[in-house]
Amino acid sequence: MGNLLVNTKDQQFLLFEQFGMEKIFASEAYGGYSKDDVLMILSEAEKMAVTSIFPTLKEGDEEGCHIKDGKVTVPKCFREPFKKYCEAGWINPMDSPDVGGQGLPHTAGYAVSELFCAANYAFVMYPGLTHGAANLINVYGNEEQKKKYMEKCFSGEWTGTMCLTEPGAGSDVGALKTTAKRLPDGKFLITGTKCFISAGDHDLTPNIIHPVLARIEGDPAGTKGISIFIVPKVRVNDDGSLGEPNDVNCGGIEHKMGIHGNATCTLNFGEDGKCIGELLGEERSGIKIMFQMMNEARLGVGMQGVAIGSAAFQHAVAYAKERVQSTPVWEMKNPNAKAVTIINHPDVRKKLMWMKSHSEGIRALAYFSAYCMDMSKIAGSEAEKANWEGYLELLTPIVKAYSTDKGLLICSLAMDVYGGYGYCAEYPVEQFLRDEKIACIYEGTNGIQALDFVGRKLGQRKGANVMNMAGTVQKTIAKCKNIPELAKAAATLEEASNACFEVAMFFAAAGKGGDFIAPIYNACKYLELFGDMVVGNLLLEGAAIADEKLNAMYEEKGLTTIGKKKGLQREDADAAFYAGKIASAKFFMNEIVTTVKARCEAIKANDKSAMELVDAGFTF
Ligand SMILES: Cc1cc2nc3c(=O)[nH]c(=O)nc-3n(C[C@H](O)[C@H](O)[C@H](O)COP(=O)(O)OP(=O)(O)OC[C@H]3O[C@@H](n4cnc5c(N)ncnc54)[C@H](O)[C@@H]3O)c2cc1C
Repeated sequence: MGNLLVNTKDQQFLLFEQFGMEKIFASEAYGGYSKDDVLMILSEAEKMAVTSIFPTLKEGDEEGCHIKDGKVTVPKCFREPFKKYCEAGWINPMDSPDVGGQGLPHTAGYAVSELFCAANYAFVMYPGLTHGAANLINVYGNEEQKKKYMEKCFSGEWTGTMCLTEPGAGSDVGALKTTAKRLPDGKFLITGTKCFISAGDHDLTPNIIHPVLARIEGDPAGTKGISIFIVPKVRVNDDGSLGEPNDVNCGGIEHKMGIHGNATCTLNFGEDGKCIGELLGEERSGIKIMFQMMNEARLGVGMQGVAIGSAAFQHAVAYAKERVQSTPVWEMKNPNAKAVTIINHPDVRKKLMWMKSHSEGIRALAYFSAYCMDMSKIAGSEAEKANWEGYLELLTPIVKAYSTDKGLLICSLAMDVYGGYGYCAEYPVEQFLRDEKIACIYEGTNGIQALDFVGRKLGQRKGANVMNMAGTVQKTIAKCKNIPELAKAAATLEEASNACFEVAMFFAAAGKGGDFIAPIYNACKYLELFGDMVVGNLLLEGAAIADEKLNAMYEEKGLTTIGKKKGLQREDADAAFYAGKIASAKFFMNEIVTTVKARCEAIKANDKSAMELVDAGFTF
């Protein structure tokens, strides 16, 4: 077994065997890279994750963040790794060298990111949000703003945040009350309170750059009237040195369930009427601009689901191989039977298999979204580019919501595998569960992601993105129907995908007939079903590759009996891995994808009990 965070063999399988990154290296955009380079980068990232970041997980959780006399402190153990992380250029390896990046393909960058996120997500949020803020300025800022703010964020000298939420404006961002008043020099006076701001204040760096959503006085209500401003914690002089404090004060930090090492702050802007902000981009384009950061953050939060789920799974397997408890069921009549390690008990084994298949599935889903970014960048035509971008648009809410919902269930099952010990702080799985839950809530709750999926994404490009997905799934089915080991799984996926696409038609027909509630009422369920289908497809695609490789190994060694084949799997890590990929796909198809059709039928039955019941009927 490798490390206790991420299955690096699966990472490499996805990158080089399933997605075939070599074709990305062959492009002009990424031509400087080779497989060896990427393997070396992954190995460095693994080293940093395991030896520098993971050791801060428990300590950071226990120490947490504190506020005293308005000053926020973060766990002391974060300081050294944060410095190291920034110095090594891990803030923006995927960006262009023009802004200090390494131009690393996103597919590889996401694999790097999974390693760090699995090690300690509360820690990774500081550089992660910094990247998002700096990248906003890179795309929408003017040259002066880039020089003044962006460069120092990309280098990690300062950090960044994203400031959307207010006490009365959570899911409904358009309800925000923060205002911006024009000043004669073209800048703005910002006044308002933002709450729940991650990394909103801390003692890691001397300055923090806040992209803040606010409404310029006189601009219309709702999202259309929102602009975005760069608001530094400390003002920056023309020569780049730090000036006066900018009247941005932390009013308090939240005491919360998980991610204790990350300071979740209430920020008061302009309590003394002295908070200066600079407009970023055009006036009233705030939501459009912030969406760039939100999309990046949604995929990042999806990665939180993948990565913490992965760490929980890796730990659970290791524990199940060591913990000795109970005699095996097949020895029930033997009074002298010896207790075995719990991985031998069918229920524990099945739980591990559920975790394994989902963990590999959501990893494939997240990496595929990164692959779409790379493929759109190297596309040979506008139409091809639009298809890859369309995939990414369609998949973003699924990566965010499906990966975090399933990641959380993986953590919960990991705790079950540990039994009572899992519930106690001595072992890390209870922290994984606590750190994971927030991923379902922030960056737009998973309920809001589902609304985005059914309300916007399904119909985008007149349904072309969904049709492309249907075509991709059909290709996998056609290929796997001819593979004896996977033919049944392919038939299951075919039935599920037909049912899934029928629901999309049902929603369209319901909408046309004036029933707008049907898609919205079923949005979460449908996102999950669609996710099951897409993940099923990715797992099956991987299994087909694994099956070919495994059979080639058997053939080369002349192994024909089941016993000899199993023997090879026990001795050879590659054979065991490929057998595991096939098992994941078959298990997922049988446990999850077989149920898709029935769940689709339930949606089409168009029951609306929850809507029909009066409020008073919910409880006494
Ligand atoms: C630890 C933490 C860190 C955070 N970090 C940041 C940050 O860095 N920056 C930032 O700006 N914000 C941040 N947030 C805020 C977070 O994004 C919001 O909490 C989240 O968007 C939900 O808003 P809310 O809490 O006001 O819930 P509400 O909007 O009140 O939602 C409550 C429930 O109602 C549902 N709901 C609301 N509207 C609808 C609708 N139209 N249809 C269906 N269901 C609906 C929601 O899905 C949810 O289930 C953070 C929050 C936490 C807890």
